[in-house]
Amino acid sequence: MKVHEYQARELMQNVGVPVPPSQVIDNADQAKAAFAAVGAETVVVKAQVHAGGRGKAGYVKLVNSADEAHEHATRMLREPMVSNQTGPEGIEIHKILLAGAVDIEKEYYLGVVLDRARRVPVMMASGEGGVEIEEVAASNPDAIKKAWFHPHLGLQPFQARMLAQSIGLEGQQAKTAADIMLKLARLFVDKDCSLAEINPLVQTTAGEILAIDAKFDFDDNALFRHEDLQALFDPAEENPAELRAKEHNLSYIALDGNIGCLVNGAGLAMSTMDIIKLHGGEPANFLDVGGSVTPEGAIEAFKIILADDKVKAALVNIFGGIAKCDVIADALIKAAQEVGFKVPVVVRLEGTNVEKARAMLEEANIEQLKPATDLTDAAKQVCACV
Ligand code: GDP
Ligand code: MN
Repeated sequence: MKVHEYQARELMQNVGVPVPPSQVIDNADQAKAAFAAVGAETVVVKAQVHAGGRGKAGYVKLVNSADEAHEHATRMLREPMVSNQTGPEGIEIHKILLAGAVDIEKEYYLGVVLDRARRVPVMMASGEGGVEIEEVAASNPDAIKKAWFHPHLGLQPFQARMLAQSIGLEGQQAKTAADIMLKLARLFVDKDCSLAEINPLVQTTAGEILAIDAKFDFDDNALFRHEDLQALFDPAEENPAELRAKEHNLSYIALDGNIGCLVNGAGLAMSTMDIIKLHGGEPANFLDVGGSVTPEGAIEAFKIILADDKVKAALVNIFGGIAKCDVIADALIKAAQEVGFKVPVVVRLEGTNVEKARAMLEEANIEQLKPATDLTDAAKQVCACV
């Protein structure tokens, strides 16, 4: 689960990482009052959105008056942001952060992720922070310094000091930056993050060290033990179909093609998409009903797939192990009765109770339903429909 920058700032503030004062608004009418409340001569107006690349997209703007703040807030809330991390249609902005701007001497990068090869978290630091960090990582990876740490022991003070020096910090600034690294590393572990990143960490012309942008990503599988983090969830940032699926314990991923895929199991989902592509088709999504799907869950799954206008045909590919084929067949029949099949639905069932399932489907005699003999036949049939 990702959170917004304003929420990340609050998490950092709670553990004592220095950040400039700020205000959040969700309506441009609040911009002038927020500008005044920040109380700085120059204020930075920032779109709050889970996608990055805001600076380059024109959604991070320095302003010197309440009128200017209002003008940029109005634009950002009106025009969807298109950045290198969004699709061409962009993302709607619902909240704006107004933060005290700082005079930047130098920008640094700090980030903690899990190093899967070494099986421990790693703190990364760079003296070349800012909006080009991806470029730095690709073209000059040596400019990113690393220190690995055991999650139970945490990042050690000597590691933080060495990292701070290796990115060119000295004296009091190095001490402050090292302290911030220790706090960030602890936050990463305590909050079950998959990413904890400050970019940029800045040294101001007055010599202060401050975090002026942060990104946190939390492990969904650990959210059950963090009520405070659950409260930060923003449904407006989610794909509506993915959200609807999540509510029913289904995993749904929206894709760009026009063939809906309903499968059980992530591995089967992958091979279903592969075979669709092999026969010249493009999946519109994949919806994994999981091993222990309930009849209600399966009906909801069909509704989600069929509600997508992009879907011109669907492929149901079920291998009945724990999930029983007759449960899926029953759900198919009910979904056909409740929402109707506006597009062809090719069905390949195999495994537990498959004979019963086939008999049920035959008896239901659903017009758009096309039984397949095997997976290749199913893929060929569904690709021929679109
Ligand atoms: P991102 O592009 O989504 O990562 O947004 P950031 O908050 O990191 O801002 C992008 C860039 O805008 C930063 O790297 C800075 O160069 C600049 N910026 C952001 N806040 C300030 C500020 O307070 N003062 C100045 N001078 N520049 C800022
Ligand atoms: Mn940034």
